[in-house]
Amino acid sequence: MAFDCDLFVIGGGSGGVRAARMAAATGARVQLAEESRMGGTCVIRGCVPKKLMVFASSFRELPSQARAYGWDIPEGHFDWLAFRARLHTELDRLEGVYRRLLDGSGVTIHDSRARLVDPHEVALADGRRISAKHILIATGGRPERPDLPGAELGLVSDDIFNFAKLPERLLIVGGGFIACEMACILQGLGVRVTQFHRGAQILRGFDDEARGLVAEAMRASGISLRVGTNIAAMGPKGSLDDGFAAPAAELQLDARRALSGALSGSGPCAVRSTTGELCEVDHVLFATGRRPNSDGLGLEEIGIGIGRRGQVEVNEYSQTAVPSVYAIGDVTDRVNLTPVAIREGMAFVETVFHARPTPVDHALIPAAVFTQPELGAVGMTEEEARDQGPIEVYATSFRPMRSAFAGSDARVLMKLIVCTETRRVLGCHIVAPEAGEMIQLAAIAVKMGATKEDFDRTCAVHPTMAEELVTMRNPVRR
Ligand code: NDP
Repeated sequence: MAFDCDLFVIGGGSGGVRAARMAAATGARVQLAEESRMGGTCVIRGCVPKKLMVFASSFRELPSQARAYGWDIPEGHFDWLAFRARLHTELDRLEGVYRRLLDGSGVTIHDSRARLVDPHEVALADGRRISAKHILIATGGRPERPDLPGAELGLVSDDIFNFAKLPERLLIVGGGFIACEMACILQGLGVRVTQFHRGAQILRGFDDEARGLVAEAMRASGISLRVGTNIAAMGPKGSLDDGFAAPAAELQLDARRALSGALSGSGPCAVRSTTGELCEVDHVLFATGRRPNSDGLGLEEIGIGIGRRGQVEVNEYSQTAVPSVYAIGDVTDRVNLTPVAIREGMAFVETVFHARPTPVDHALIPAAVFTQPELGAVGMTEEEARDQGPIEVYATSFRPMRSAFAGSDARVLMKLIVCTETRRVLGCHIVAPEAGEMIQLAAIAVKMGATKEDFDRTCAVHPTMAEELVTMRNPVRR
């Protein structure tokens, strides 16, 4: 049967764009549909704008540090609107780059939503139908608000980059990547941040000692971080004043009223915590997780399995139960990180267009949380490794030269988890400025299976923070 194209990609984010370009480079006829902006979450409303905001907020402490180093620098003022204008210009530029890359690769772009109508055919929003030998679902995910009356009043991470003005007081709900990164960024930009996390410690899944140090640093920066705390009730400002939460239906009505005509749903909110505290803030930001964008794509109708969290079910080759349809990236809810989606896209092209079946290697994926200080991690936490057998823990925490000279008490952590039997470094955990940069390099050694002795044989680079990774001689615990 003759198809209109060899590959139809739904979703123009990091994974979809990479797969489309790589497939087109093999000579395949490729088409791609994106209903929103080209570049997807990472480029338009995730990693890229977030990192630029990390840079923006990191300047806050520089004047005082610089003064300690002898510079005559006055305290500055942050102009959100000036920054926001530059930020959006940059995002527009990057979107253009993505578009040109696709154009240059010969990929036909449809600025439209697309859905599957059968295993080899998609329908665009205008009703056009396009047949394809293979279809790739790369539709990503979206932020999810908790199921709580009044939650419509809250913002999600997508909204942050469009603030008309920075709030004075912000409540962030959640203790994951986005909640912690946004808390640090916005506190750094001068917002008074309160963070509620329902668990006992933020950043579940990371090494206990490392996340403990990040939490300590966040509190030291002025963030009011409350653990074991969640929202019990919320509504528009003033709605909880009588000391009792209004009935759910009433709150929802109030929330809808507050929403009508508002740009992004949120306004001044009253919140009652599960610990009984009543507070009023300018906005509530929900960073309580993300959900795969699998709805309304016609997937279940053609026999593709959708999991409990809304994820498209795939095998190790990213293939769905329908052989001609594959899915990569956050829509599959495996490891929700941009570089992983890109690798899944490349493995898909290897498998389908080079006839070299290539499973994606999800082992030892390094990660960085861009808090201040950053947390970089690869491999097992101390807790995970201890469950698996005897280990040695090498760790050091110290005041780094640069900020200590300026009188700061901020500490960093360098930590290695070593298997007693094989001597392999099972995990590396770094809490420090630029930990994201450091962990990228440490991850190469860990992925190669380096032993503690390989680290020891490596000469230190002095004076750096990371040199501690190769100079720790004695385990602090076994
Ligand atoms: P995460 O899954 O990391 O965190 C969600 C947080 O919300 C957790 O602390 C969770 O608590 C809490 N939570 C969930 N449901 C509720 C609820 N009903 N009420 C209160 N709290 C709740 O999700 P994020 O949205 O922060 O990030 C999504 C993903 O995006 C990340 O997992 C990561 O893969 C990716 N990402 C990566 C970044 C990076 O690489 N630097 C940056 C940003 C995002 P609990 O722990 O108790 O479940």
